[in-house]
Amino acid sequence: MFSLLIGLLFRCGPPLEEATKPPAGGAAETEGEFQENREAMVREQIAGRGVRDRRTLEAMRSVPRHLFVPEAWRHYAYADTPLPIGHGQTISQPYIVAFMTEALDLKRTDRVLEIGTGSGYQAAVLAQICSEVYSIEIIEPLASEAAARLKQLGYTRVHLRAGDGYRGWPEAAPFDAIIVTAAPDAIPVVLLEQLAVGGRMVVPVGRGEQVLVRIRRTKEGYKRENLLPVRFVPMVREEARVP
Ligand code: SAH
Repeated sequence: MFSLLIGLLFRCGPPLEEATKPPAGGAAETEGEFQENREAMVREQIAGRGVRDRRTLEAMRSVPRHLFVPEAWRHYAYADTPLPIGHGQTISQPYIVAFMTEALDLKRTDRVLEIGTGSGYQAAVLAQICSEVYSIEIIEPLASEAAARLKQLGYTRVHLRAGDGYRGWPEAAPFDAIIVTAAPDAIPVVLLEQLAVGGRMVVPVGRGEQVLVRIRRTKEGYKRENLLPVRFVPMVREEARVP
């Protein structure tokens, strides 16, 4: 089981050479076909690999992933792979989105912070479950595309900001859950401080070899668990982007 997961999760980062050609998968044309593919995705790739949380499964069944990927890749939106979304970034493999969502242990009333909006897909999945979602994206055009897409699809409880998510969103803190979808070298202390007592954070940590870490904040401090080996795009810092 563990080696199966390693095999799968090494595909959650950028598709690299895969990005030049469409992955194998059933090509869909109509809304009905997209929905069928989405249900098969949840059954085979997500529930089939052990994700059990009912709200996560429902959210993955309802968010139209094909509307979060560029038109050219739409037919492969429900394939078991990350896909390019422009600017050298990717929408994560469906399984990793579901795995991280389940690992956050969410309640309806939770307020969640996401770092790395990308396409806005993970934010939409979270908004399907929780009361408020705050999401930060450092690449401005991705942030504005995601904002337009989420607005058009009616996700009014997602609040977006363009900027460096390493500093979190202090005005809206504390959060019941924080999900980081780009990998920092080490867990950002500012984000730990923005976690409520009882809150959970899921973050891929490291360069090259990365591990998905879950932190729980308790009254006494922080508890860390290593969940899985993963590969995400690196978290970039605003300073590094200034010439
Ligand atoms: N969650 C996204 C996929 C994330 S890809 C989705 O559902 O589509 C990782 C994203 O993190 C990229 O869009 C990248 O630009 C962004 N990112 C990287 N470093 C960041 C930072 N410091 N702050 C905010 N976003 C960052």
